[in-house]
Amino acid sequence: MAETASEVAWARLTAAEIQARAAPGTVAIIPVASVEQHGPHLATGVDMWLATEVAERAARKLKQAGTEAVVTPCLWSGLAEHHMAFGGTLTLDEATFGAVVGGVARSVARHGFRRIALLNGHGGNIEAISTAAIVLTRSLGVPVVGATYWIASEDRFATILEAQPNVMHACEAETSMMMAIQPGCVREGNIARAVPTRFAPPAPPGFKRQRPFAEMTDTGVLGDPRSATPAKGEALFEAAAARLAEELARPELWN
Ligand SMILES: [Zn+2]
Repeated sequence: MAETASEVAWARLTAAEIQARAAPGTVAIIPVASVEQHGPHLATGVDMWLATEVAERAARKLKQAGTEAVVTPCLWSGLAEHHMAFGGTLTLDEATFGAVVGGVARSVARHGFRRIALLNGHGGNIEAISTAAIVLTRSLGVPVVGATYWIASEDRFATILEAQPNVMHACEAETSMMMAIQPGCVREGNIARAVPTRFAPPAPPGFKRQRPFAEMTDTGVLGDPRSATPAKGEALFEAAAARLAEELARPELWN
């Protein structure tokens, strides 16, 4: 019984247990990710594992602080056209992505949830998740908030990371978090050759210029994963989950 009460994962709850939580104040989190190349040293499911972990930790913190929460299974398919050249990458087109996110959010709303958060864990989804939040808030008539976990946690991540200010790609941050929760998906022996020798900087703040990753990095990695540690990964998860739980608990976000 106690196990069911502390469970946050939608897919591990029965329909009746989910409906019992569908009160107006409950936060329903939908993690959204991607399956794509993450250099020679990380498996392709990074974004899926990390978005799910952040979402479930945030939901547990919400519950501990008195706000009921539930986390749907992660939408693993995202927008990753810019990674295709490296292989191992699965992508949707923008219209399909919006439709899939919309279908899941609409289902959640139809079951009575009135605070819906799209929790994004993939760089290629950032703009589309903001658009989905705007469109769905209008069409569903309930507030749908979009968040990308490392942008929401920027100030805290900067104090944990040593080689970079925030999450890049298959980098110090993502490698650390994978070491913490999915060490079997980290090829430690390939980390040295994951470091790019060619590395184009992103567009300046305020500018958007989509570029294939193959033009930006020769290894598929942005950043330097050599200083990754499981302890940093654990600290990043806790920082992101704490920030999200704080923000998602604020009534002003929803009212
Ligand atoms: Zn990604």
